[in-house]
Amino acid sequence: MKKCMIIGCGGVASVAIHKCCQNSEVFEGIMIASRTKSKCDALKEKLQPTTKTVIETAQVNADNVDELIALIDSYKPDVVLNLALPYQDLTIMDACLATKTHYVDTANYEPLDTAKFEYKWQWAYRERFEKAGITALLGSGFDPGVTGVFSAYAMKHQFDEINYIDILDCNGGDHGYPFATNFNPEINIREVSAKGSYIEDGKWVETEPMEIKRVYNFKGVGEKDMYLLHHEELESLALNIKGIKRIRFFMTFGQSYLTHLKCLENVGMTSIEPIMYEGREIVPLQFLKAVLPDPATLGPRTVGKTNIGCIFRGKKDGKDKNYYLYNICDHQECYKEVGSQAVSYTTGVPAMIGAMMIMTGKWNKPGVYNIEEFDPDPFMEALNKWGLPWEEDFEPVLVD
Ligand code: NDP
Repeated sequence: MKKCMIIGCGGVASVAIHKCCQNSEVFEGIMIASRTKSKCDALKEKLQPTTKTVIETAQVNADNVDELIALIDSYKPDVVLNLALPYQDLTIMDACLATKTHYVDTANYEPLDTAKFEYKWQWAYRERFEKAGITALLGSGFDPGVTGVFSAYAMKHQFDEINYIDILDCNGGDHGYPFATNFNPEINIREVSAKGSYIEDGKWVETEPMEIKRVYNFKGVGEKDMYLLHHEELESLALNIKGIKRIRFFMTFGQSYLTHLKCLENVGMTSIEPIMYEGREIVPLQFLKAVLPDPATLGPRTVGKTNIGCIFRGKKDGKDKNYYLYNICDHQECYKEVGSQAVSYTTGVPAMIGAMMIMTGKWNKPGVYNIEEFDPDPFMEALNKWGLPWEEDFEPVLVD
């Protein structure tokens, strides 16, 4: 029996679990293991009557390697799909190494106390994964994830060399709250309040947070303000795509979101430095997370669409060429299908597909790899089949 263990049972995991259950031919069994077992049980109760996939649940503290090893040993999955938080990446990779189990995640490791994410910690596992004969697939969400698959596909089918990539992540959705984040607030706020950066001629160029702004007219959404952010796939794509001169990442934000964020920053609520409050230590950002709307509850209220993709500029047969690959996803359609908004959907579907690539043996290379290092074709086909169809534009409007 082909089995997948999913760690975490939040917004993204819920979508991935729905998708595994729609895909019982590959996912004959799944175990949902998370910190709060009642969430896993509730999802099992909802989904088991609708699917042939045999669902089991367990409580696990994914910060504890021994607990993870014991659980993996007892369930014996073909792959572990890590949909907990980036802080758990290394403990879960350690447990996969000890049990010789393949590993997939959607976000790179970030130490709890430094708000700095990069691949060096996970790339350091390469040799050990190779020796153990197991694959770690890093970053199988949308961005990172589909953006890397899009890049590999463009490289394989459209270009001889790619010189410029602009990744544009547009969320045109409206949840009706003055301020809420679409995925885990702590991770989201750490990401957007950090300095921006991009890679030019092999070097990182740093900017102040939200310093670089552009306006872009997104198909299916309309005109939006977007801001240059640091994003993890820049680091791997700059290494893995031939001929790169510059790679940037832009995300759209509404004025209300930015005004609230600035105010929260100014009063110290986004800080990750612990403070004493009534005799106990609290981290302001973690407290803020507790009072903000849970992203998992935004589904019913969010309307509008997302449009995420990559604009490539490079050369084919000696001529300059531009090419835009993107996906448009509708918040309400996602909610009707799996009970979640499009931000969780666009991450959870590729997470399921990444696990499927490993379980079916379509992707099988012992070691630690970013997603663009695999053949993009079966993944691109699966995106169309499992709810994230992509579109192409051969004359895109460029970002200056
Ligand atoms: P949520 O906060 O909704 O869910 C996280 C889940 O992990 C919760 O169920 C939580 O348990 C569980 N968890 C946290 N710590 C532990 C632990 N120590 N042991 C076991 N379980 C734990 O987050 P999201 O679903 O929004 O995000 C999940 C991941 O997806 C994150 O890593 C995020 O960075 C990534 N992501 C990637 C994107 C991409 O495009 N690549 C886009 C969006 C997100 P509990 O229920 O008890 O809190």
